[in-house]
Parts: sequence; C-alpha cells; structure tokens
Amino acid sequence: MKENEMVQEDGNKGFSGKIFVPDTSAILTGKIDILSMKCVVPSGVIKEIRKGKMGRLMDHEMCVIQIIDPKEKYMEIVRAAARETGDLPYLSQTDMDIIAVALEINGIIISDDYSLQNVSSKLKIEFQGCGLECIKSRIRWGYVCKGCGAKYEDKLEECKICGHKITRYPLDQEER
Ligand SMILES: [Zn+2]
Repeated sequence: MKENEMVQEDGNKGFSGKIFVPDTSAILTGKIDILSMKCVVPSGVIKEIRKGKMGRLMDHEMCVIQIIDPKEKYMEIVRAAARETGDLPYLSQTDMDIIAVALEINGIIISDDYSLQNVSSKLKIEFQGCGLECIKSRIRWGYVCKGCGAKYEDKLEECKICGHKITRYPLDQEER
C-alpha cells in the first residue's frame, strides 16, 4: 500500500522511468515483458486474468504488477470523453478503469483495443499496441442503419425508421 500512496501523491515522480498500464490481453498474450517494466493495472484486469486458463500460470508475474483502482473524478473524465467519441458502448468497465488509471498516474496504456486507444488519444494519454498496428488518428463515430442507411449521432438499438440494426462508422478523423 505504501507504493500505492506514493503514486497517488506525486504522480509519476515516485517511479523512475515510465509506468505502463497494460490491458488484460496485453498481459495474456505474453508479448510484453511485464517482469522488466513498471506495470500498474486496475483490479479488474487481475480479476479477468484469474478467471481465465492462464490465471494460475500468471500468479508469479502478477506479484510484480501494482494495483491501483481509479478515483471517481478520473472515471468521470473518461466517461465524458468516451461518450464524446462514441466509444462508450464498446468499452467494458475494466477498459474504462485502465484509461482512468493511466490518466491519473500519467502512464502509458498497452492495448490493441481500438476503442480504448481512441479514448486515450482523446485524453492525450500515451498508448502502444501490443501486436496490431495502432490507430493513426482519432476517430469520432457516427451511427448508420444497415437497412435504410439513416444516420444517427447516438447509438441506437435499432433504426427509428425501418427497425434494422445500427452499426457505427468513422465520422471524421482528427490527426493525433
Ligand atoms: Zn433504417
């Protein structure tokens, strides 16, 4: 708990070098060397790892990962940003926790999830992919009906006009 407090009191200063905030799949794919880097994750990530087949194998590695759960004020910022970019329906609670923790400690997110990357970009949080190529620009999503092509700003369950499913499309892209 002592190190935990240090992070929260003076941001990044308690650590030398960069702090990474990997998502569950970044850890499970084994493509990042969590033993040699400073990693911080919200407890949701640890829970997701423990649930899976890799849970037992990962016990050793998980001792070196520090757990910080996000403060509500950062969660609010993340929620607002995700709502604005249209990524909110595509993010799990753990995804949001990861972004909020990275925001709080000025960490670098490691994730291949485009929605997670998109919101991080919006909040000017540094991020890296762990396999796939990262998004090049920030995407703002619009929503379009698969049936009649009607466009909507908000995600709807079905089209108001014809009742078909709604899918999303990139509305515009801003340079990062
Ligand atoms: Zn329609």
